Amino acid sequence: MSAVTLHDVDELRDLYRELILDHARSPRHFGKLDGATHTAEGINPLCGDKLRLYMRLDDDNIEDASFEGSGCAISVASASLLTDMIIGLPVPQALEFFATVTARLTGRQAGSDDATPPELDKIRALDGVREFPSRVKCATLAWHALNSAIHGESAPVSTE
Ligand code: ZN
Repeated sequence: MSAVTLHDVDELRDLYRELILDHARSPRHFGKLDGATHTAEGINPLCGDKLRLYMRLDDDNIEDASFEGSGCAISVASASLLTDMIIGLPVPQALEFFATVTARLTGRQAGSDDATPPELDKIRALDGVREFPSRVKCATLAWHALNSAIHGESAPVSTE
């Protein structure tokens, strides 16, 4: 018998769904960030998601991050997870995470779970969006805003 039963898989999915709903209902690090040094806006017209990401960088470290805006549960949960993950990270590592997460969610890294570092474990909660191409943009929006903010691009990033 397999160690993982179908029942366990269902539970796992429930766990992930709970994580998404939890972050969507009570987003972490929500609101404007005082003393932000980097910011970028992300817009997903297809779904109506609109958020702004704030970061305070000290040299090459992300000291603090927050976001504000509104959108669907997936976009808000993804932004909330993002801020949780990047606070305290060196910028090059955050950019690596951006590359890993966007590749993962767009399916370019499908089947190679080993390439996803344990620090990004929670992002697995968003894996379900791969089956829904229109929702992938909701999940990656905050990450594109992160990339844009780090590179100091002032124009809003749009998924379109
Ligand atoms: Zn959305």
